[in-house]
Order: sequence, then structure tokens, then C-alpha cells
Amino acid sequence: MVSWSLSNRRSTNGAMNKQTALRIIRAEENALLIWNAEQARTAFFSGKELSLLEMWARGGNNPFIERVMELGIVGNGDKHAVVEAIALSRSRVAPPFSFCAPESLHIELTEACPLNCSQCYKGQARHQELDVALLSSVIQDAAQMQVFQIALGGGEPLLYSGLHQLIEEISTCAMVATITTSGYSLDRQLLDSLVSCGLRHVQVSLNGSSKEIDSRSRGGYEHALFALALLKDSQLSFGINWVARRDNLDDFPKLLQLAESFRVGNVNILRYKHSSGEAYEENYLLPKDELRLAKMIRSARSARKLRIRLDSAYASLLCYLNNQTSYMSGCGAGRRFLALDSQGYYRPCSHVNIREKANSLFETWYQSGHLNRFRTIGENVNAPCAGCDFLHGCYGCRALVLGQCACFFEGHAGCPFRTP
Ligand code: SF4
Ligand code: SF4
Repeated sequence: MVSWSLSNRRSTNGAMNKQTALRIIRAEENALLIWNAEQARTAFFSGKELSLLEMWARGGNNPFIERVMELGIVGNGDKHAVVEAIALSRSRVAPPFSFCAPESLHIELTEACPLNCSQCYKGQARHQELDVALLSSVIQDAAQMQVFQIALGGGEPLLYSGLHQLIEEISTCAMVATITTSGYSLDRQLLDSLVSCGLRHVQVSLNGSSKEIDSRSRGGYEHALFALALLKDSQLSFGINWVARRDNLDDFPKLLQLAESFRVGNVNILRYKHSSGEAYEENYLLPKDELRLAKMIRSARSARKLRIRLDSAYASLLCYLNNQTSYMSGCGAGRRFLALDSQGYYRPCSHVNIREKANSLFETWYQSGHLNRFRTIGENVNAPCAGCDFLHGCYGCRALVLGQCACFFEGHAGCPFRTP
């Protein structure tokens, strides 16, 4: 059961009302997840915090929940849903070291993309599209399992022939549809029609504040800027995906300026990963570069309004910046998300070349040996991650490890964020 907060009403055709705030409350095994779509944040309550939440929902009050309310995680209208979800949580069973369902499902709709960016981890673009019937059954499974968000990507997802119908279906199933795009082929009419189908958020890929810098690793600078201009004039929430590389690191402050000029809601920093079109060794950030990036993020965070986010592969950097770990951070493969590729294979994460076919999303989530390996990284990983204070908020990115060696549980040699 998904408990919908009062701020989250549906329109008469059952689709999610696109104008209202959205919180979803999901019962987990002796715990709750509360997801705020506007903030793209999930809060986890278990143990004492769950008791405090229940006390508040039953009419009491306490400083902890006052703070939680200030952050917009729950509101007074959620009390009934919280009580119901807590009752349900007592009988829920999740796979070990994970949740009862992914928070988000990352779907590669198509491999087609005209840009063929050199850094693309997908390699040479082909024309495989995800089968419509399979996709529809996956969306139904996801809705039943109470997945919060369906993140649509590619290739270029705007080229997927059934995109409108798909977004409508996701929305009707009370999940949130988001898209990551280069901006290629986006125009006002397409954007408006996608929004009217229920699209909730767009991330635009952009690696530089100028064409010269962006084109060191990507194509389509003009498409990205055109898309940002359209989004600026829309009501839709949107952000920029920026891959941190040696050839654009110095440009980061200017990229933030550009983002602000488009009134972008977030800049999401992605860690550079292996691709077949480039030599990884020439482009990844060296430990000293990562420490510089950390410094730039710190100063930008205090000076700017836009939100700077970090890819799960940069959970090490997040732990370093916050000087703490969070149960909700770290590699989310098999814990917080799952990927489906355009050939219909499930992957723990779209960046790893480990995949399997399954009868259903539920079967994959509860029975996959691949997912279980990802879920036990914290117990089995080698040095230097083993013994690191940040291990259980980080886990070390397997996509990076597997890009360099065959040992699944290898640690991140040379990690500059290791503590102590
Ligand atoms: S393997 Fe890396 S990129 Fe994939 S989910 Fe884990 S941290 Fe993120
Ligand atoms: S040493 Fe490993 S666990 Fe520690 S911060 Fe670095 S990558 Fe994460």
C-alpha cells in the first residue's frame, strides 16, 4: 500500500495532479520511507525516530518532528497515512540489506541517440527500443511494488516512439516520471505535451559553460541551451547533469553561473565513468582534483541558492563534505534503485555490465543473486574501503571498480576521502 499525503491529490481521470506537492509514504520492514517528489528526497524512519513519528501522528508533539516538519518531510495532513503505514510496516519483509522495493527504476528506453558523445558509457549508439508490452508490464509491477519514481533515459529518451503514452501510464499509476535528456528534439510543443501527460522533472546533460568546453566530451551544446531556455519559461522542475572531468573542472564555477542564469533547480555532479570512446586515465579526476572539487562545492554551497547534488558514485565525496554517513547515501544499486535496459534486461545499475532477464520486477528484486552481491558490499569489500569510517554511507562505486579490475569486492585504491 502506498499512503498518499493529503497534499497529493489526483485528478478525476486518476492521474496525478501535476500542480500539487507530492509526498509518498511507504511502509518498509519496521520502518517508513517518505519521499518528497518536489525535493527529490527520501527520508527514512526506523527505531526511535519511527516511534517519535508515530507519537506525533497520534496527536503528541516533539522537537524532532517539529524539525522534520520544517524540512517539509511531513505535514499535519499526513498523520492518518503515517499511522496506517506504521501498522503495515510491522508485517513487511524486505530483502536483506535493502528495501521492499526500489525508490526509482531507471529505464533505458532506446539506445538511439544522434549525438554520439565521446564520453558516453553506452558506447556506439544502436537503434534498439524497449518493447512496449514489456515496458507496460514493468510499469504495472512497479506501481504494485510502490516504486516512487520512473527515471527515463537512453540513448535519447525523447526519441522513444511511445513516450507520451508511457508518461501518462506512469502518472496514472501514481508514480513520478522524470527524463534525462541532451535536449535534442525538444521544443515548446513537445515539452507542453509531455507536461500535460504528467512529466514531473527534466535533467539536461551539459558538461561546460561554453561550447568549446562542453564539446570536449559531449555533442549538442545548442540543444542543451535551447532546452534550458524552454524549461526556464515553464513551471517544470529541472536541473543540469554535469560530469566532473579533468577537462572541465576549472569551468565548474562558470557552469554554476550559467545554471543560475537559467534558474535551474539543481546541478547534479556525476562521477566520470569508463566509456569505450575515451581513455579513462586521461579524463578521470585524480585524488587532488577531487579534493579541489570538494573545495569548490563547499564555497558554492555557501554562496549560491541552487542545490548541488552528487551522484551515488560520489557518495565518498558527500560523506567527506558532510563529515558523516547516512543510511540513505552510498551505492544504491539493488538498495534504492534498479535499471532496465533497452533489451529488457534488469541491471543493478545502468553503469554496470551485469544483467539478467526475469519474469517480473518483484522476482528480480527479491531473488536476484546479482542484487544480493551489491547489497553485501559493506560486509565484503576489500581495503581501503574496509575499515573506512564512511563505508556504510558510501560502499565504493562498483561501476568504477569493475571498469578497472575483475574483483567485484575490490576497494577504491587512492580514495582521497577515506577516514580515518
Ligand atoms: S555502481 Fe556506482 S554508479 Fe552504480 S549505483 Fe553504485 S555507486 Fe552508483
Ligand atoms: S575509502 Fe572506500 S568507503 Fe571510504 S570513502 Fe573512499 S570509496 Fe568510500
